[in-house]
Amino acid sequence: MTKYTVYHGTFVHSASIKELDIVSNGIIVVDNETGLIAHVERDVKDLETFLNSSSFEDATVQKVEKEQFLIPGFVDTHAHAPQYMFAGSGMDLQLLEWLETYVFPCESSFKDADHAKQAYEKVIRRFLRNGTTTCSWFATIHLNACQVLVDIIEQLGQRAYVGKVNMDQNSPDFYIEETDSSLNDTRAFIQYVQGKKNELLTPVVTPRFAITCSSKLMHGLSALAKEYQVPIQTHLCENHNEIEFTCSLFKESKDYTSIYDDHGLLTEKAYMAHCVHMKDEEIDMLAARRTGVSHCANSNFSLHSGVCDVRRFLEKNVKVGLGTDVAGGFSPSMLDAIRSTFFASKTQKIIHRDMLEKGEDSYTPLSPAELLYLATVGGAQVLGLEEKIGSFEKGKAFDALWVDLLGGSIDLMGGENELQKVEKFLFNGSDQNLKHVYVQGRRVSSRD
Ligand SMILES: [Zn+2]
Repeated sequence: MTKYTVYHGTFVHSASIKELDIVSNGIIVVDNETGLIAHVERDVKDLETFLNSSSFEDATVQKVEKEQFLIPGFVDTHAHAPQYMFAGSGMDLQLLEWLETYVFPCESSFKDADHAKQAYEKVIRRFLRNGTTTCSWFATIHLNACQVLVDIIEQLGQRAYVGKVNMDQNSPDFYIEETDSSLNDTRAFIQYVQGKKNELLTPVVTPRFAITCSSKLMHGLSALAKEYQVPIQTHLCENHNEIEFTCSLFKESKDYTSIYDDHGLLTEKAYMAHCVHMKDEEIDMLAARRTGVSHCANSNFSLHSGVCDVRRFLEKNVKVGLGTDVAGGFSPSMLDAIRSTFFASKTQKIIHRDMLEKGEDSYTPLSPAELLYLATVGGAQVLGLEEKIGSFEKGKAFDALWVDLLGGSIDLMGGENELQKVEKFLFNGSDQNLKHVYVQGRRVSSRD
């Protein structure tokens, strides 16, 4: 193996939330030992001259051909690994009915570690094939099956945040834990993941949501997150029935967001899925705590929870990433998450317009540049990985998708400019347009 690999061709990433940077004749040099980007160069027309005048002359060269480009790997900030079992089922139900009918029976079957192994291998392979190089996973309440999931992720090479789910109340008899064993298993799980000393793997404290967690459990989880310096993920303000039920259980807290805050769960390392129905002061609280938001538009439409206004969060400088929320969202593809986010944003535009009787409609829906940003850099920020991934910069990990526009679900008609080619991928592309997928320099999936 040579020390370096040089990728030469077009690459595309976000220079800022508003600005897509499309670099033709670019160079990305990857250190094969560390998987980190050692050098980035723009506008290199003659590769030989560049190599000869650099310290990379013995590098392996990978030519990114015409109609191909590299983009940063997708970051899915919220997905439930076991729920991929029934993706697409129960889409006629609302959240709380759907949990009882599909989710709890399915997740309880992961008590069987062999079953977990078979299912999780398929799940992780599918997400990698779709270009999800980083994913934040909810598993189940079972310590064994959670360890199995982490082992599989490690073997297949995804960058992942993994959480053992906690539930000690308002859950069915066949899928519930005692408070103390829930905390003990969480500690054991954190130690198991950290014991691997694999920088791609991070354990996450994962109370399912306030409904299924007692006050004692949430305080205990907050203490564990602090002790081991790990992130926290949960659900917040997803649907009206859920919000009403939650607030009735924790009457001493001012609102749903305050329930988590009162239990020490809104930290800088925490991120909340959904946040569809939030009062301004709740968003202000997230901003003050530096807590992130995982926007899961497909799920919000599919379980008709509501339409989240991402613009409100961005305007208050809250970190926002995208999530598939498999299987509240039926698709395990971040391209779908991008498109669902696009529709949610357009729906907001329509709502804002129709609410105005007169006057100017000033609402700006998300642009393609913003959509790609949220799926890459935004997700990295939510997970506290913005120094490591999300764009092609020296020192960051080479987490990348090698996009090939020829074949698959895209037709090039001739005459498309560079931006239009990127847009064709975002709106019409599929896994068939991903020639290779890399995590920290390692190829983890290939189309051929
Ligand atoms: Zn979820």
